[in-house]
Amino acid sequence: MSLPANTEIKEIYADIIVDISHEAVDRTFAYKVPSALKGQIGPGSRVRVPFGAGDRQIEGYVTALNEEPGYDPDKLKEIIDLVPGSISVESQLIQVADFLRLQYGSTMIQALKTVLPVKRLVDRRKKAAVVTLAITDPEGRDLLSTWKQKKYKARARLLERLLQEGQMDTGIAVRECGVPRKDLIKLADQGILKISEPEDEGLSAESISIRQGAALNAGQQKIADAFRKAHEAGIRKTWLLYGVTGSGKTEVYLALIEIILKEGKQAIVLIPEISLTYQTVSRFSARFKDQVAVIHSRMSAGERSAEVERIRSGRANVVIGARSALFAPVSKLGIIIIDEEHDGAYKSDASPKYHARETAIYRAGLAGAHVVLGSATPSVESYARARDGLYGLWVLKNRAGAGRLPHVRVVDMREEFRSGNRSVFSRELSDLIRDRLDRKEQVMLFLNRRGYAGFVSCRSCGHVIKCPHCDVSLTYHRDGSLRCHYCGFRTAYETRCPACGSAHVAVFGLGTEKAEAALQREFPGARILRMDADTTRRRHAHENILGAFSRGEADILLGTQMIVKGHDYANVTLMGILAADLSLNSADFRSSEKTFQLLCQAAGRAGRGDKPGEVLIQTYDPDHYAVTAAARHSYESFFEQEYAYRSLMKYPPCAHILVILIQSSDERQAVIAAMRIQRIIEQSRKDQADPPVILNPGAAAVSKIKDIYRQILYLKHQKGEVLKDLRMRLEPVLLEHPMFAGISVQFDYDPMNRY
Ligand code: ADP
Ligand code: ZN
Ligand code: ZN
Repeated sequence: MSLPANTEIKEIYADIIVDISHEAVDRTFAYKVPSALKGQIGPGSRVRVPFGAGDRQIEGYVTALNEEPGYDPDKLKEIIDLVPGSISVESQLIQVADFLRLQYGSTMIQALKTVLPVKRLVDRRKKAAVVTLAITDPEGRDLLSTWKQKKYKARARLLERLLQEGQMDTGIAVRECGVPRKDLIKLADQGILKISEPEDEGLSAESISIRQGAALNAGQQKIADAFRKAHEAGIRKTWLLYGVTGSGKTEVYLALIEIILKEGKQAIVLIPEISLTYQTVSRFSARFKDQVAVIHSRMSAGERSAEVERIRSGRANVVIGARSALFAPVSKLGIIIIDEEHDGAYKSDASPKYHARETAIYRAGLAGAHVVLGSATPSVESYARARDGLYGLWVLKNRAGAGRLPHVRVVDMREEFRSGNRSVFSRELSDLIRDRLDRKEQVMLFLNRRGYAGFVSCRSCGHVIKCPHCDVSLTYHRDGSLRCHYCGFRTAYETRCPACGSAHVAVFGLGTEKAEAALQREFPGARILRMDADTTRRRHAHENILGAFSRGEADILLGTQMIVKGHDYANVTLMGILAADLSLNSADFRSSEKTFQLLCQAAGRAGRGDKPGEVLIQTYDPDHYAVTAAARHSYESFFEQEYAYRSLMKYPPCAHILVILIQSSDERQAVIAAMRIQRIIEQSRKDQADPPVILNPGAAAVSKIKDIYRQILYLKHQKGEVLKDLRMRLEPVLLEHPMFAGISVQFDYDPMNRY
């Protein structure tokens, strides 16, 4: 092997995509970069290339540059030239993909799949049919016990699931329940089932009352003016809008969008999926009419691509959606608004594990657009940047319309227990609920489900009943089943312990179902609505429950996270937080922040109308600063303490963390791979003056999900660049070295959740 002569100029090769679509991203073609274009092109560049046998000239986009051709270089054709003015939206999205790959770690193909829209020719005739029950639920339950007696196992499985889920695809009924298609048709003929085309999955216009936008108040107007002035002066930047709940942030968004639209530019508005309700969307539609396009996860692929087409053609100028709407193909982007910017849903859970906030700032930079981050409880990251002057800061301290910030009280549940109260409700909360019921005012009760799932364990030996496929405890449901919330596994609840044989297996903890039962016992006349993952499985269930509550058809709305976001009810004068507990999540460095945010958001639900509101926080940790700061509505004091903790412990944003998640269906392989990666990192640390710190290597907190074993390495360093550099040196080894064959390795930079 001879070394190349010194004089030889290095060849560069480009991967080129000629069909800009999600489906075509793994079909890129390699071309030589002519010397005249070296240094001038990069990912996103639009170029002309000879294509096919006849060397027809077509346009394509560069997705990557390589020094290795990957093919016989003599057979490669050369790029013809750069297409002038190549700042098309496609070009920008490919640059965003390249940013995702570099910043968060993934292959370019994964990154392109993340940003490019799914191009799907809609064949409306071939939508999957769905099965629903044609009989009432009580009739269904009667039939279920008959079928169980007759040992019609497949049919019973189907019926049981339909009673729970409301509907399912015929394909699933056949595959997962084992009911043959001809039997489905027979059951439909007998009037037991209904087989039909799926309903439109759009957000239903269930009657939730909407208050129309008012003229801006002084605080809001000041912000709109400041924005307009900066914009006219040519300034483009990121702004943090910190406004207490109900301060009228949405009205500000509408005003800013109006300024942008007048210039012929477009807007993207991101909202956490869970708050993407009819109520929110309609405030935008009321203002911008059919210029609004909505993208949400409950849409079918066909509906989604129809919306994308409206956006691409410029008929829609205001795109509203959850995280992935960030990649909407708007070509004249003027502003990206991220509402509830602190929300964990803005972090993707699949590779590349990007954060929408950082990615929005990058995309806006390419397009010359603004980013506006809005929150009543800004993330520690964003507030720190605003404080340091990196973002502009706008503050709304008071509620906009009617209503004051509610009075908040904290109840120490340890005291309650000591004084003999074994109920879920403190005496104070019971009194307040009774008072509201008497006054015909409404109550919301919030249960932070995260730490409080009803797990099942043996009182005699302590054995916890776990999912056989995941390393998590099963959750008890009132229908007598135990279910896994990670993989959907279900089994019947048995009181006999599989470990020691004692008959004392029992349900621990407090779930929403148990809380509902307790409510019914304590307040027999009250009309109660429950909102959680189980009661919202059926389509439109969200809107139906909230609609009923806003029409006053219930006195108490009990629910999880779902009830605390973005809904506005004038008649709610009491919010009870049943368990604001922290300790169960303490392994997560963000647990105080998450608790504080939830408490503030929950508290913000009360007193939205003319009547004053009251909030009661029940907790076992009443002196924790997240609780005390929330009770005083003091974001600033929370921030000071939290920031001090982060800088002491070197957690983001004061330092950075890179999680390496190693997964395999073979536990031993996962462990070996993790040890090898650790060794490679330790070796490379030797020649570094200030190497990253490796923290708690070993099994992840949830060490197995769906039969896949999970090993984890945490790396920490003051400078994000150091971690990025390490990751980029590691990636090729993981992809190419045979010792990592069959092992999945994922990276998560500055994680939002613990593993
Ligand atoms: P946030 O998004 O900050 O929680 P919203 O934009 O939802 O606040 O506003 C809270 C309530 O105040 C809404 O009912 C809204 O209609 C009302 N509101 C907002 N701005 C004004 C205003 N300038 N004058 C009167 N009412 C307002
Ligand atoms: Zn036991
Ligand atoms: Zn499971």
